[in-house]
Amino acid sequence: MVPYIAGYSEEALLNPRIVQHPLFPGVVYADETPHDRDSFGMLWVRPTLLPKHRRGEPRLREVHPYRQRRCMAHMMCQVCTRPPENLDAPSLFLLRDTGGPVQEGERTASPPVCVPCAGISIQLCHALRRDHYVAARVEHAPAWGVAGLVYDPDTLTPLPGKELERVEYGTERAPRTVAARTVVALYGVTPVDLDEEFAQLGMDRLEEEFARVAGLVGAGR
Ligand SMILES: [Zn+2]
Repeated sequence: MVPYIAGYSEEALLNPRIVQHPLFPGVVYADETPHDRDSFGMLWVRPTLLPKHRRGEPRLREVHPYRQRRCMAHMMCQVCTRPPENLDAPSLFLLRDTGGPVQEGERTASPPVCVPCAGISIQLCHALRRDHYVAARVEHAPAWGVAGLVYDPDTLTPLPGKELERVEYGTERAPRTVAARTVVALYGVTPVDLDEEFAQLGMDRLEEEFARVAGLVGAGR
């Protein structure tokens, strides 16, 4: 079972040449095209885009930047790509437990999941099993910024520190950042007991859903 956002062995990041922004402290690609920026004007890494049969072996610990961004933009399930039932429906977020329930305004780079895929993730994802998880329904999850590499505009090298740094849109660091994930902020947060959610769905329906997801993930999208 390979979640939609997972990376694959043949999907390496390309290394376009980074140069100084001509007008202000920031970075651009020497051969930049409009496809390199998101709708907020952020510069993004350039991942290899391949049809599924040429992607190689799944890398479950890696995240494909464009697939992660797509899930966040449309609030799609990060495992099976199911979209929300309607535009106003709250989304379910399943996060690693870092010492308490999901907080109002908390930021995350982990896209939503649907209820059946939450069940699958808890069973199959080692990180969630080991560290435990917290789940919440979230009414609004606006894009807050990105996680990416922040560059020194003079030396054109990434600033030392954490590999991916969270950078808010419109801040001083934004023009110097090459984004690799969309980060959203979570508002209207209601904690969720997943066991209750599974019970509400019913065992038969849950089995059906598992089969649906397995079919989708196996068939290749
Ligand atoms: Zn799903």
